[in-house]
Amino acid sequence: MSKDIDTVPIIPVIRGWVKQSDRIVALTGAGISTESGIPDFRGPQGVWTKDPKAEKLSNIHEYMSNPEVRRLSWKSRLDHPAWQARPNAGHLALVELERRRKLHALVTQNIDGLHQQAGNSPEKVIEVHGTMLQAMCMDCDWRGAMQAVLDRVRAGEDDPPCERCGGILKSATISFGQALIPEVIERAMRAAADAELLLAVGSSLQVYPIAGAVPAAKAAGARIVIVNAQPTPFDDMADAVLRMPIGEVLPRVCGTAEKF
Ligand SMILES: [Zn+2]
Repeated sequence: MSKDIDTVPIIPVIRGWVKQSDRIVALTGAGISTESGIPDFRGPQGVWTKDPKAEKLSNIHEYMSNPEVRRLSWKSRLDHPAWQARPNAGHLALVELERRRKLHALVTQNIDGLHQQAGNSPEKVIEVHGTMLQAMCMDCDWRGAMQAVLDRVRAGEDDPPCERCGGILKSATISFGQALIPEVIERAMRAAADAELLLAVGSSLQVYPIAGAVPAAKAAGARIVIVNAQPTPFDDMADAVLRMPIGEVLPRVCGTAEKF
């Protein structure tokens, strides 16, 4: 398979763009994590697409009003595949870009922390949908490690309340029906507008406002490279579109599969 990828003529061209760029912004979505064994929730084969009832677990209104939904949510957090997942070659390619001081920002729609686990610095990673590695209180400003709350669930609390105020706890992620954090989105859009090269990786680019980072980067003069299994609304705007496995193609375009 790698031999096929090595014959794709656009790949050395993109590698040249990467080499020339000092401000690369990566925008990553579910596709990079599915290669680490974490299911995509919204994609064509997604858990929610195939079973809309499962989406209920991620709806903030259901979560806040229905203790049964919270109990099911805590159970599914205990068993989440992310706890076993390890970063793949796609994640590691982005770590290498940072090591070469080329990575301006890494904007991600993923909540699994795999970019930081791979070795990207937390200050480079902008998590627009939050992180499942932390829990937060919906009533006070308490935030803490998810694993500590999961320990309470394992010990028998099926809907553990905030130890500070008794409020409802949730993962520190943006659920359906919940507002995005404006400062985080602003930071992501600013980074996109500063990019020389935007690598959109494993995202269907259909979720706004963050999909708007692509036209924002383009308008500011960046080259756009899209790596995604399915077509995106921005393919026509892109300088290159690659429909190949991320873990194989990203090391090649980033030049980590071979030395610059
Ligand atoms: Zn609280």
